[in-house]
Amino acid sequence: MEYILMILLALILIFIAVVIFRAIMFKPKTQEKVEARIVEIDENKVAEHLAEMIRCKTVSRYDSKLIDEAEFDKFRALLPKLYPNVFNNCSYERVGSTGILIKWTGKASLKPTVLMSHYDVVPVIEDKWKKPPFEGVIEDGVLWGRGTLDTKGTLCGVMESVEHLIEKGFIPENDVYLAFSGDEEVNGPSAPAIVEELKTRGIQPALVLDEGGAVVEGVFPGLKQPCALIGIGEKGPMNLELSAKGNGGHASAPPPHTLVGLLAKAVVNIEKHPFKAQLTKPAAEMFDTLGRYSSFAFKIIFANLWCFKPLLDLLCKKKGGELNNVIKLRNKYYSYGTEYVYKYIPVLFLYNNLHILIFIKILEKA
Ligand SMILES: [Zn+2]
Repeated sequence: MEYILMILLALILIFIAVVIFRAIMFKPKTQEKVEARIVEIDENKVAEHLAEMIRCKTVSRYDSKLIDEAEFDKFRALLPKLYPNVFNNCSYERVGSTGILIKWTGKASLKPTVLMSHYDVVPVIEDKWKKPPFEGVIEDGVLWGRGTLDTKGTLCGVMESVEHLIEKGFIPENDVYLAFSGDEEVNGPSAPAIVEELKTRGIQPALVLDEGGAVVEGVFPGLKQPCALIGIGEKGPMNLELSAKGNGGHASAPPPHTLVGLLAKAVVNIEKHPFKAQLTKPAAEMFDTLGRYSSFAFKIIFANLWCFKPLLDLLCKKKGGELNNVIKLRNKYYSYGTEYVYKYIPVLFLYNNLHILIFIKILEKA
């Protein structure tokens, strides 16, 4: 008996030693040095361009009768005015009802890059806004407006980068496609139409970049620095309709459990049963990269996911939000191009900011 206990104790000690040793060895990987450089971009001009985009009320609605088509036309007509270089040097075509496909021909066509974005926005309750949502007010260095983050900012960043590089005489190594839709917020058909169009032309991108997460702080456990969350899909919504039938009766003498209480219980039960966590390859790589910068307590978990996966699940569940999203993906990906990405493309870096410098860097390597 004592012998078995000794073995058990030894095993536990070995386990603890392995877990701690792995956490100690879990150090940041050496990174490619990024040299600092200055790109001359006129910030005020860019902000004014984005403000002009905000002034187009491109509000998407499920009921197509409520859509103000003129505002969408206004947005599309604005682009050649803001980006003459792009329109003089690239081909422009409309695909589907609101899709825009711009091709910037590179030196080769073998490994094309696709940069995506959408120019529609969700509706607003205007009087709940501190500043008007569609006037493009710039105050104290802040641009107010619906769509600045989701995601005309991205579209503007992409266009500014291409405009800038063309002006500098740059030609990308491979073709670059800019694919924008105006019905993303209502799961519209334009991005899928662009995907189909590219497929028909036999174009298989080497890289696709779409909107998604952001540079966040306080989301990744134990990490103090801001970090960019990687995502190749988005946890989708689910709509359920619950109904219950019961016996009638007088309001003065209700039964111990009313149907309302029962339904509430059912709703709570559904919330208690989210999709099972799954660690996809990109998510695992993200934990492996960011986990190395985390505090030691969390490093113990991230360095030992071979045994602490359930703990990670619990952690993500408690935290909710973006982190939980990362491991609660199902196979049903959003249709607006991410399906395409999932099938064909190795990398998708998500962004929701005006990172012109990042786009320039990507295009220079495209
Ligand atoms: Zn969006």
